[in-house]
Amino acid sequence: MKNETKENIYNRNNLLEKIRDKNCVWDVLVIGGGATGLGVALDAASRGYKTLLLEQSDFAKGTSSRSTKLVHGGVRYLAQGNIKLVLEALYERGLMMKNAPHLVNPLPFIIPSYRWWEKFFYGFGLKIYDWMAGKLRVGSTRLLNKDTVTKEMGNLKYNKLNGGVAYYDGQFDDARLAINLAQTSIENGGVLLNYVKVSKLLKDHEGKITGVEATDCESGELFKVNARTVINATGVFVDDILKLDDPHANALVKVSQGIHLVVERSFLKGDSALMIPATSDGRVLFAVPWHDHLLVGTTDTPLDRHQLEPKALTQEVEFILDTLKEYLDKAPTREDVLSVFAGLRPLVLPEDKEKGTKEISRDHKLKKSKSGLITITGGKWTTYRRMAEDTVDMAIKTATMEYRLCVTKNLKIHGFQKEKNTDTMQLYGSDAGRILELENKMPELKKKLHPDFPYTMANVVWAVRYEMARTIDDVLARRLRILFLDAKAAVEMAPMVASIMAKELVKDKEWEKAQTLQFLKLSKNYMLNPSINNSAEKIDQPVSNY
Ligand SMILES: Cc1cc2nc3c(=O)[nH]c(=O)nc-3n(C[C@H](O)[C@H](O)[C@H](O)COP(=O)(O)OP(=O)(O)OC[C@H]3O[C@@H](n4cnc5c(N)ncnc54)[C@H](O)[C@@H]3O)c2cc1C
Repeated sequence: MKNETKENIYNRNNLLEKIRDKNCVWDVLVIGGGATGLGVALDAASRGYKTLLLEQSDFAKGTSSRSTKLVHGGVRYLAQGNIKLVLEALYERGLMMKNAPHLVNPLPFIIPSYRWWEKFFYGFGLKIYDWMAGKLRVGSTRLLNKDTVTKEMGNLKYNKLNGGVAYYDGQFDDARLAINLAQTSIENGGVLLNYVKVSKLLKDHEGKITGVEATDCESGELFKVNARTVINATGVFVDDILKLDDPHANALVKVSQGIHLVVERSFLKGDSALMIPATSDGRVLFAVPWHDHLLVGTTDTPLDRHQLEPKALTQEVEFILDTLKEYLDKAPTREDVLSVFAGLRPLVLPEDKEKGTKEISRDHKLKKSKSGLITITGGKWTTYRRMAEDTVDMAIKTATMEYRLCVTKNLKIHGFQKEKNTDTMQLYGSDAGRILELENKMPELKKKLHPDFPYTMANVVWAVRYEMARTIDDVLARRLRILFLDAKAAVEMAPMVASIMAKELVKDKEWEKAQTLQFLKLSKNYMLNPSINNSAEKIDQPVSNY
């Protein structure tokens, strides 16, 4: 297929060319392309600063694709008395709904109650929650009787049920928003590159940071990049970068793992999500409808290690399944789990190091090192914009740059569209029409990738050309979300996706085969019962002829 002649601003080669210029000095250089780093890049680029972001893997490959997908003030933080965090997050929830309506939607949640006082207790707390959101409230809390709870949420155990409370919060697609943030940053003049890893901080004779050394993970090319300010937004990796700056630096974060299970949507009837406010280990558990499946989580397991592909622990899986058994008439078993994924929270270490991870505040932390390195971590997806604003304000002061006002409160995110598309195309917002155009121009791209999912070959071509996808994992995990929804289906699609990508990226059969094998290995992390499959062999068969 011939690529279009019009310049494509997301083209990786063109973006790489911009960091080869040795005389260029970036105003803001961000390390890390998760929610935090992408937010900072967007804030800086949209204020007109010369901005570069380097991500060692894919955008949102880390924690930012592995959240519970809630845009929320955090009912739990209200119970902990962290009013400031809740107020801030409720305000940001409103802004996210306003600026990315194609990806962020209001969702009703039901808390079932089993003792007479519970619904009044939670109802009162949630009325305060509504009131705190002010004009940005998304719906009103209602007290429900037993029959209404059962009607709105079939499959709940009826016997001991006393009633419940319905309240509203926001829900989104985390990785899709990350990609749209990257696109918006580039549209605002930023340069954002995935698969470029920062390995060294460059300093002047006074020990002040002047830039970074980074490697293109695809070609091995090494870059020395000059910058006025360097922002460490690397999530659970922030301490590694702090150690590059000062080998004796104290640890800033504590890692806590949370996992989710994905099962068929039919395990919860109705349109509402289920919220269990106090599990046996004192946490909150959600069962949330998401892309026609049901997402259940999460856990809070302290860990002493961090990695890009964390794995769910057996006890975490059992904990979620056991908890569901207490609430649902027909609860899922291990065999019903279509996908399992784990994410790592970068929790800011408190003064009191003895605190358990669930008591550690979810506030963010902004820190400036002696070298001028700025580190931003903690917080939540919901507060990414506010975290970015604070960070860029600090960068401006650090490099004594001319102050320009933050504009992200009213900045529409790529794909912005108020009207809803059909379910299949909802994720794409205003891009949906262009994907259909692509299919109309090339009808061979209308072929579906899998009988159980609506996506076609055109979605893969789109992901490579305009959404910076470089691997099968990028497409199936973070552009189309299928690895997170149904790992087996993702494996079945992999050879076809590899073949389409190879044509778009001008790669050979060896690349296709290596990519498919790599994806098959990775997909096992998302399966509870990985069985041997032979998808890699299928790549010698023709899967597409466009
Ligand atoms: C289980 C779970 C559920 C959650 N649910 C919610 C929720 O429902 N709602 C909500 O608001 N928040 C939620 N959160 C919190 C939210 O997901 C995180 O706060 C947020 O994603 C953190 O983003 P980040 O950018 O700081 O980290 P990450 O997303 O991990 O990004 C850091 C990036 O830095 C990159 N990097 C590291 N080292 C280098 C290097 N040397 N060079 C270049 N790049 C590098 C990594 O590859 C990574 O992509 C949840 C978190 C977890 C774990």
